Amino acid sequence: MPEKKSSKKSTGAPKSKKMVYFFGDGKADGKSEMKDLLGGKGANLAEMAGHKNLKLPVPPGFTITTEVCTEYYKNKGKYPSVLKGQVQDALKKIEKIMDKGFGDEKDPLLVSVRSGARKSMPGMMETVLNVGLTTKTIEGIIAQTGNERFAYDSYRRLITMYSDVVMEKAQGIETEEGKGIRAQLEKIMAAKKKERGITLDTDLTSEDLKELCKAYKEKVKEVLGKQFPDDPYEQLWGGIGAVFASWNGKRAISYRKIEGIPHEWGTAVNVQSMVFGNMGEDSATGVAFTRNPGNGDKNFYGEYLINAQGEDVVAGIRTPAPINKASQSDHNKGQKMLQEAMPAIYKQLDAIEKKLEKHYRDMQDIEFTIEKGKLYLLQTRIGKRNGPAAVKMAVDMVKEKLIKPEEAIKRVRPEQLDELLHPIIDPKVEKEIKPMAKGLPAGPGGAVGLIVLDAETAVEWKKEGKKVILVREETNPEDIEGMRASEGILTARGGMTSHAALVARGWGMCCVVGCGELEIDTKARTIKVGDIALKEGDWITVNGTKGTVYAQALPMISASEENMILKSFLILCDKVRKLKIRTNADTPSDAKRARDFGAEGIGLFRMEHMFYGKGAEEPLFKLRKMIVAGTEVERQNALDELFPFVKKDIKGTLAAMEGLPVTIRLLDPPLHEFVPHQEDQLEELARSLSISRAELDKRTSGLRESNPMMGHRGVRLGITYPEITRMSAKAILEASAELLKEGKKVFPEIMIPVVVTEKEVSQQKAIIEEVCAEVTAKYGIKKMPLMIGTMIETPRAALMSDKIALVAEFFSFGTNDLTQMGFGFSRDDIGAFLPEYIEKKILPDDPFQTIDKAGIGQLIKISIELGRKARKGLKIGICGEHGGEAKSISFCYESGMDYVSCSPFRVPIARLAAAQAVLK
Ligand code: ADP
Ligand code: MG
Ligand code: MG
Repeated sequence: MPEKKSSKKSTGAPKSKKMVYFFGDGKADGKSEMKDLLGGKGANLAEMAGHKNLKLPVPPGFTITTEVCTEYYKNKGKYPSVLKGQVQDALKKIEKIMDKGFGDEKDPLLVSVRSGARKSMPGMMETVLNVGLTTKTIEGIIAQTGNERFAYDSYRRLITMYSDVVMEKAQGIETEEGKGIRAQLEKIMAAKKKERGITLDTDLTSEDLKELCKAYKEKVKEVLGKQFPDDPYEQLWGGIGAVFASWNGKRAISYRKIEGIPHEWGTAVNVQSMVFGNMGEDSATGVAFTRNPGNGDKNFYGEYLINAQGEDVVAGIRTPAPINKASQSDHNKGQKMLQEAMPAIYKQLDAIEKKLEKHYRDMQDIEFTIEKGKLYLLQTRIGKRNGPAAVKMAVDMVKEKLIKPEEAIKRVRPEQLDELLHPIIDPKVEKEIKPMAKGLPAGPGGAVGLIVLDAETAVEWKKEGKKVILVREETNPEDIEGMRASEGILTARGGMTSHAALVARGWGMCCVVGCGELEIDTKARTIKVGDIALKEGDWITVNGTKGTVYAQALPMISASEENMILKSFLILCDKVRKLKIRTNADTPSDAKRARDFGAEGIGLFRMEHMFYGKGAEEPLFKLRKMIVAGTEVERQNALDELFPFVKKDIKGTLAAMEGLPVTIRLLDPPLHEFVPHQEDQLEELARSLSISRAELDKRTSGLRESNPMMGHRGVRLGITYPEITRMSAKAILEASAELLKEGKKVFPEIMIPVVVTEKEVSQQKAIIEEVCAEVTAKYGIKKMPLMIGTMIETPRAALMSDKIALVAEFFSFGTNDLTQMGFGFSRDDIGAFLPEYIEKKILPDDPFQTIDKAGIGQLIKISIELGRKARKGLKIGICGEHGGEAKSISFCYESGMDYVSCSPFRVPIARLAAAQAVLK
């Protein structure tokens, strides 16, 4: 004892750092801005308890800072010396407010030990409730409450959570699925219920629970080889240590990897006085959202359970009841709403919910508990939401003047828009088909795939290229990677706030939960609903918007393009963004779709695309003739035959993009890919050229290149065969001329690919200008609105940009090739090494997905600077795959480009990303 006292002052050391932050009774040391130090949960508990506008009923407690966690790991699992004293002081404060004593045998205080990192990590870190219950204090609890059943219910929960989290997981003990201590204890409880002929936990009597506690403790001793601790302080410090340990648990690390959360952050620990939702019919616990997280409707939305504690609601032990009408679903309709069961409490909760949303100016996800008719708030945080909900809330909150448009734009992640453009089950087909089962709609859109019954199989099958739907009783954090690998998730248990629902919502993934009719047999590898039985590997389709499940593969269609809320959201974005958004499109229908999504022109039209796919046989045949032509005359004949096809193709797209610029790239065909391989096709080709098969084989083998990516392609083709450029230019310009004659406005931009020197550009430009003069004369057009520019896709072109810009009228960065040639990574062969580069953090991202700012970015910056120096106001854009990726778009804006161009479905995402780039 004396040691403790002296340690504080004797050395005259600087005043010890504050490591423990108190909250409760209308006061708090912390506030919501202190998330880095107190974690999200701790900071918000402090805010709710102490902020002058809130002062909500929060059970008193304290937060041990994240710095302690960091230090704990630095010192190989040792706490800073001053921690104990600070914890003791804070505990005293709680005892005073609660008028109870921790470990007091007459009137014991019980606490929860809760984790809380800066960013919420659903289910990752563990919480232990009812800490402080021992064989001695339990008598005090019984005497104080007169409720023996409640006391033993709390005790059995403590034993379950504590043995699982502290004695097993935090010790790093690994068990097979279903063999962990928690599962073993649950088995004892299930046996008890069976023996008693009951199904609900709440039907267990005080005597049952007492026996269970005894059996539990014996099992813990048997399985873990240690006595369940009967000392309150041992429990408390065990709990605190386990929270720290769980930060470096396997599941937590895996989640952080996926979400990109730094391992250095550490977690805080919250110790909070218990309030009890399991004290009887006048007690309850619940989870709620200030708006519907599934669709964004402005309705208070939530679920609760009478006579239950904490995790019960999310664990799917019983089906939770709706708090109000807006929260009713087919699933829970029969149950009594909180609004009816406890009207006064509901009113109080609703007022608090409104206050919280106004205070935080965002949708809140809250936890509450009602103890004997008294309401307590246990948590608030910014609620996760799916894409459709995010967009709706953003638009609504601007209308309500709760937030500014800039704030609304920042709140929607570009990937979330994907969900509004998500595939859905073809409604015409769906209407005709009876669902095999129905659950809760927890994640948007539709998904079709093969049934898999565990996460590992999901990951394996995905690797084999199969589409899978993960079907589970319920999911837990161990399933994370399997969930990631799936097209959709289906669970038999759990509500809208269950683990599966939370994760799916975060990822914008199709998900159905709480499908109660579903019987899953993981031994026989089957699922059953009534008399419909399916095996693992059978097809299944889920509709996460409606909650329906179908015992077959249904066709999917892309989502509605007529989404008014999305439209008004994107208009907000358009007011802010500076970059123009174009699209990469090669057909009139793609062009039209992109235009509907808001594209302001075409940034890349690939001529060679007309030689792929449906209806391509004829032009493809002519192209092949051209490729294998042996003489200029033969080639010219083939080109003459090809010309009408090319012209028609281009005209259709130019017409669809009327009034907007269309960049058409001169032919850049991978020659070797176009040479036929089938015998009959080779025969026909030889015949049509009136040459022998031997001669044809000679010519095709002459085309073979050992390095086609750096071979005879792009402008090199136009240099060696100027007649190809001539034909292409003629097709583009005649198509334009005809449209101009029809009174349509067209803005063709001819783009020369794969250049390395300005001489290539000037030589090709001369040909195009010559053709242009012929065409304008032929059609009697005064001036053709034509621009001639180049792609910058070789490192040399980037470095020679001042010279090139003297002849090129615009630049477009082909960042796929620029990355390939800048890195010297063959795009077709990166599979063998790139994943490891990323895994080992040798490269931060896949440079083919996100522009490599550090390296390739420099080439781009140099090129832009040199180009604009030589030609003022030079128009510059990007047409590589990167043009639709948010981080790359932000780079394009910073480096001063005029536009980005991306595939039609990415256009809305690019509009948002371009606006966010300005606000950054
Ligand atoms: P998670 O991060 O998984 O949400 P929490 O720390 O919020 O974990 O706790 C899990 C459950 O226990 C929640 O339902 C919470 O409301 C409940 N809970 C935590 N502390 C207390 C407490 N002091 N009294 C009553 N319930 C509590
Ligand atoms: Mg938890
Ligand atoms: Mg919580």
